[in-house]
Amino acid sequence: MQTVLILGGTTEAYQLAEAIDVAGRWRAITSLAGRTAAPRIPAGGLRVGGFGGAVGLAVFLREQRVAALIDATHPFASLMPYSAAGAAAHVAVPRLRLLRAPWVEQPGDRWLHVAQLDAAAEAIAQLGAQHVLLTTGRKELAPFARPELARVHFVVRSVDPPDPLPLAHATVITDRGPFRLDDELALLDRYRIDLLVTKNSGGAAAAPKLEAARARAIPVVMMARPPQPEGPTVATVDDALAWLDTVG
Ligand code: NAP
Repeated sequence: MQTVLILGGTTEAYQLAEAIDVAGRWRAITSLAGRTAAPRIPAGGLRVGGFGGAVGLAVFLREQRVAALIDATHPFASLMPYSAAGAAAHVAVPRLRLLRAPWVEQPGDRWLHVAQLDAAAEAIAQLGAQHVLLTTGRKELAPFARPELARVHFVVRSVDPPDPLPLAHATVITDRGPFRLDDELALLDRYRIDLLVTKNSGGAAAAPKLEAARARAIPVVMMARPPQPEGPTVATVDDALAWLDTVG
């Protein structure tokens, strides 16, 4: 049986590993970066930790005789997709990017689009927000620790707790999706949230916060995605499975 390496860390990567396992035509190995303390365990094989850049990944592909590579990392993973593209090209292994569709503004939304975390922090100051729900990730809080935001109360939601927590006034909520609209509405109400800051991750699991913000007429600072390497890209697990059929 041929081996497909899935670069994981997303819901889609788990779904893909499960579907490949059930179909039984390929042997899937999922690779996780090892960022979360207690990750979900995918179907099939698992390895954890960085490869050591594109060169290390190329060595892994060759040693493990990987016949196909599906990069299902998060839309905001900015390095791994380029390592994957470089390594796969080097050892001539077919590569696919599985990248879920971004969220799109709906009638009633009040989105402010920014490209960088610094711009998101500036937007909080400009909008005069006082109670901010921050869902951009526990390792990306430093840009919000600026003097002009010292009076802002942040509600930081992340899978694992931030360490350190550089913000003067913050409530930390550790939670992992999928989230429910009712719970998101209750969260906005409980903390009197007047601004949501989020990455445009896309997907259904985290979308209820956007519905909740729309329902409460709360503005959203929406961070745009980083660039992606060129090459075949699909948005769904089904399309990734169809691609796998074409290479195996
Ligand atoms: P990144 O900036 O693209 O990657 C940084 C380094 O982490 C890579 O150079 C690689 O190390 C290692 N790495 C990343 N993904 C890996 C994987 N699946 N398997 C093995 N090593 C991996 O990515 P990141 O933003 O730090 O995200 C890390 C992981 O968390 C990703 O797998 C991603 O799917 C997941 N994630 C990220 C976000 C986000 O907002 N960034 C959100 C949810 C989940 P080497 O160079 O040593 O190989």
